[in-house]
Amino acid sequence: MEIIYQRIFEYTPDALLVIDPAGRITLANAQAESLFGYDRSELIGQPIEILVPARFAGSHVQHRARFLAETHSRPMGAASELSARRKDGSELPVDIMLSPMIVQGNHLVLCVVRDITERKAAQDELARQTAELRQLHAELELLAKHDGLTGLYNWRAFYEHTGQMLKTAQRRCESATLLILDLDHFKQINDSYGHAEGDRVLQAVAATLKATARQTDIVARHGGEEFAVAALGLSEAESLVAAERLRSAIAAIENLKCPITASIGVATLEPGAPPQEPSRLLAELLDQADQALYAAKRNGRNQVCHYTGFIQTDAEQDDSPAQEHAS
Ligand code: GH3
Ligand code: MG
Ligand code: MG
Repeated sequence: MEIIYQRIFEYTPDALLVIDPAGRITLANAQAESLFGYDRSELIGQPIEILVPARFAGSHVQHRARFLAETHSRPMGAASELSARRKDGSELPVDIMLSPMIVQGNHLVLCVVRDITERKAAQDELARQTAELRQLHAELELLAKHDGLTGLYNWRAFYEHTGQMLKTAQRRCESATLLILDLDHFKQINDSYGHAEGDRVLQAVAATLKATARQTDIVARHGGEEFAVAALGLSEAESLVAAERLRSAIAAIENLKCPITASIGVATLEPGAPPQEPSRLLAELLDQADQALYAAKRNGRNQVCHYTGFIQTDAEQDDSPAQEHAS
C-alpha cells in the first residue's frame, strides 16, 4: 500500500514539497524538480525560501512560522498573486495550497504548488482585451455624440441634451432659450480659400462658441456651417444679450484669411408656458429659431433676431399699409 502512496506523491501533476517545522524541505516530487529546475538532492534540507523570490523571502519566513501554528489546510496568499523562483532565478506565477500534517509526532506542512503561467497569461490577455474594448467603447460613444471636425456635440446629442434641458425648464417653471447660428456667406470662403480653410473657420467658430457660452449651455454643430446653442434660465432680453455676445465674438475672431460673421435666430420658452412633450416643444422652438434666423439673413446678416421680435416686426410691416390705407 505504501508504494501506492509513494507513486501518488511522485507522479502527481502538481509540484509537492514537504516542509519541516524549521522550514526545511524534507521531500520533493518529480514535478517539483522539473518545475523549479533543481535536482531533488539540491532541494532536500534547504529552507523553502530557496524557492521564494528574494523580495518576498523575509516576510515568507514570518508567514511560515504563523502557518505552523494552524491546524487546517488553506490556499496561500489567497488575495494576492504568488510567484515562485526557479534555480536559474526566473520567476513563475503559482497557486499554492498548504496542508498541515503530523507524522510520527512531527508537525510537517505539505505544499502543493501549481504552475499557473498559462492561466495567468490568459487572464492578462483577457484583462488587456477588456481594457481595449472599454477604450473603444468610450471612443465610439464620443464619436456617436460629437462632431468629428469641431468636437462639439452633434445634432443627435444636442437633441437629447436639449430635450432634458426643456424638461427641467418646464418642471422648474424656468425659461429656456434656443439659438440657431448660421455663418454668413460661408460658401465664399470655401470658394475663395479652399475647403481646408473653410474647415479651419468652422473649428475656430466652434471654439469661440464653446469659450463664449456658459459652461452649462449646450453647444452643438447642427451640420454644415450651422450651430445651435441651448441655455437654461434666460429671459427673452437676456437671451438676446447672450446671442449678441456670441455674434460679436465670432466677428472678432482673428487669424482667419478673412473675417467671418454669423446670423442668429433666437426662440425662448417662457416660464409657465403650457407644458408640452419635450420633443414637440424642441421642434417648435427650433422652427421658431429657424424662422428668426432667416429673418436675420433677410435683414442683412451679421445680426441677431428673436422670433417674437421678428413676428412683431412682420406684423407691424403687414399692418402698416393697411393702416395707411384705412386712414
Ligand atoms: P448664407 O449667408 O445665406 O448662409 O450663405 P452661405 O454661403 O453661408 O450658405 P450656403 O448654404 O449657400 O453654403 C453653405 C456652405 O457650407 C456650402 C457647403 O459647401 C459648406 N459646408 C458645409 N459643410 C462644410 C464643412 O464641413 N466644411 C467646409 N469647408 N464647408 C462646408
Ligand atoms: Mg450660411
Ligand atoms: Mg446654412
